[in-house]
Amino acid sequence: MTIQWFPGHMAKARRQVTEKLKLIDIVFELVDARIPVSSRNPMIDEIISSKPRIVLLNKADMADPKATQQWLAYFKEQGIHALPIDAKTGTGMKQIVSMSKEVLKEKFDRLAARGVKPRAIRALIIGIPNVGKSTLINRLAKKNMAKTGDRPGVTTAQQWVKVGKELELLDTPGILWPKFEDELVGLKLATTGAIKDAILNLQEVAFYALGFLGEKYPHRLKERYALEEIPEDRVELFDAVAKKRGCIMSGGWVDYDKTSELLLREIRSEKLGRLSFETTESIQQ
Ligand code: GDP
Repeated sequence: MTIQWFPGHMAKARRQVTEKLKLIDIVFELVDARIPVSSRNPMIDEIISSKPRIVLLNKADMADPKATQQWLAYFKEQGIHALPIDAKTGTGMKQIVSMSKEVLKEKFDRLAARGVKPRAIRALIIGIPNVGKSTLINRLAKKNMAKTGDRPGVTTAQQWVKVGKELELLDTPGILWPKFEDELVGLKLATTGAIKDAILNLQEVAFYALGFLGEKYPHRLKERYALEEIPEDRVELFDAVAKKRGCIMSGGWVDYDKTSELLLREIRSEKLGRLSFETTESIQQ
């Protein structure tokens, strides 16, 4: 699922999120644990403004655990509450409620002091397409409330989904656009599968991904493709993988499309293990 974002769509998405913010106590900002910065909306801080928030590093099951630990330390340092989760299996989700209570303690204590009856915390999930918003809502609601995927043009009344007694969730998430004007962000989104292949130059994405792996995860490449050495030259590396996998056309030419498809498929299906394409160091650089 990929939304084509035009200025009109962006303005509408922003308006919709702003409307929803009025109804809730806390935002769950969903990002992809493999690319916690590139999978954010570039204006999210401005849009959410002072509303309390928890950053949920979703798909943590696919991310490099070491990198995720560093990200958690990074967010903590910035005073931002963050949790690694896996919406597909539900790992880490129990902590969402306890962390929300912690974040909102002061507000709810204040309300209680004024004699307001205790009520469930109201939350909204926000994120770019494909980051796992529907999966998370379904999992939290423990039934198929939200359809997975996008529902453009469908406006419905706001519905609340109960998560136990202590949390209520808006059943439609806030969908915002990624920062696609940055080429590297686009390549990372594409590598992780957040952007449909049909609208991409597959070879370009595969070249980027392979270069990244050659630099950061050379041992995984060596192991997976039985390479003795990792050639420094990216084209040479690409050719070496192609040869090992028999992606060769008649006349001995490397089949770049086939190799690109194979590589991206294997990266996305964790054949090269758990990978993170963004580290705290790379962001600081
Ligand atoms: P949305 O566009 O943000 O609502 O994203 P979806 O909920 O439709 O999820 C996009 C894809 O990511 C689907 O194929 C999900 O199965 C997958 N997905 C969502 N959460 C996780 C997760 O925590 N781990 C893994 N491995 N896959 C996930």
